[in-house]
Amino acid sequence: MARDAPHLAPLYDFRVEDLCQWHIVEAICFRCRRTAEVRHDAITRGVRGTERLTNLFRKLKCTNCGNREDNRLAVRLMSRN
Ligand SMILES: [Zn+2]
Repeated sequence: MARDAPHLAPLYDFRVEDLCQWHIVEAICFRCRRTAEVRHDAITRGVRGTERLTNLFRKLKCTNCGNREDNRLAVRLMSRN
């Protein structure tokens, strides 16, 4: 069954302004593999809409192990009922 999913930009090209309310953004720690959902307002606050998400997440600090390097992100689509 075909699903009517909104277009999802490739992650390397995903910009802050591409974020919609049905996107679930997760940060994944490179070192300890901790995955945490990140609120949109925590991402968009104080950054330009043209900023790429991958750039922002590289600077993120893991709350579990404190790692700041090579952290990645994942964007999933929330199921809409
Ligand atoms: Zn970590």
